[in-house]
Amino acid sequence: MDPAIQLLRDLVAIDSVNPLLVPGAAGEAAVAAAVSDAMRRIGMDVELEEAAPGRPNVVGVLEGRAAGRSLMFCGHTDTVGVEGMTAPFDPVQRDGRLYGRGAQDMKGGVAAMIDAARIIADAGFARGRLVIAAVIDEEYASAGADALVTRWRADAAVVTEPTDLAIAVAHKGFAWIEVETHGRAAHGSRPAEGRDAIVRMGRVLLALEELDRALQRRSPHALVGTASLHASLIDGGRELSSYPDRCTLKLERRTLPGERDAVVTGEVEGILARLGAADREFEGTSRLLFARPGYELDATHELPVALTAAATRAIGRDPHVGGMTFWTDAAVLAGVGIPSVLFGPGGAGLHSTEEYVIVEDVCRCRDALAELARAWC
Ligand SMILES: [Zn+2]
Repeated sequence: MDPAIQLLRDLVAIDSVNPLLVPGAAGEAAVAAAVSDAMRRIGMDVELEEAAPGRPNVVGVLEGRAAGRSLMFCGHTDTVGVEGMTAPFDPVQRDGRLYGRGAQDMKGGVAAMIDAARIIADAGFARGRLVIAAVIDEEYASAGADALVTRWRADAAVVTEPTDLAIAVAHKGFAWIEVETHGRAAHGSRPAEGRDAIVRMGRVLLALEELDRALQRRSPHALVGTASLHASLIDGGRELSSYPDRCTLKLERRTLPGERDAVVTGEVEGILARLGAADREFEGTSRLLFARPGYELDATHELPVALTAAATRAIGRDPHVGGMTFWTDAAVLAGVGIPSVLFGPGGAGLHSTEEYVIVEDVCRCRDALAELARAWC
């Protein structure tokens, strides 16, 4: 069996569900141990660093014989939950696919990047520095990537998230916002005393729907499409017979590269101000809970150009250069000045109950990454 696929099977067989998504879940400790073993077998210098208690990042370094440029490959070791899956940690190969939780998102990419280092090490690494980073918590808050960039730098990075072997130079960001409408609690039989916070939230929801339509009518970003928003979670009321004094809504706004948090919070504040001006009894507040920026690298930058050439040489195809809609750790790397692209294997079903990666794509991705390391460093 190809060593990349053997490694992929080993990684899929280890439960590494993110414990902040699913309370009590296994976390990344066991998969980090397997990753560090694989890196040590290659001859890399390996460091485990706890990015959160009991949840280590693994960073492996391969030094060339001579000085040169550095290149980082980065992937996350956590996965989303496994509810509804029959055998999430049993890697089954069928019809050229490997099934299991994390097969595509993104143990396929992690196996490919580690096995690329093996190929480089076996052939003798002439010059430069290869850094392989397996980070925790991308599926929740990217604590792993945040910790990584406090110590590690490289002249360029490839994040091996699944892209169907396309090169992505851009992705969207997101902002989570909480809105609260305030009412007045009263006995349900006394309308003169009560003020209904839930009904007032209805006005906010209608305005948000209008805002979402307006966002999606704007001319799209060439690589990632339009911004959008949706209501994610809503909560309010105490019992059937009372006027609710408060209602809270948590919403997600997907942002375009370059869109600032202030623009997004301003949109919601504008809605609340308009509703307040129209009805003096309306009272609503909002706050930004968490946000991550979008990302964009010029497609003519040396990194995507070099990866295009490397992929063409290694796997005989000229990869599509585009954008991905989902947020990734590339934005964290770029945030400290590391030019980054996404490049990873194809498959389907990420975050769903049937997830697979295309087995041959894992090897193709590995071969293209090894070729890039030779050319870049
Ligand atoms: Zn992912």
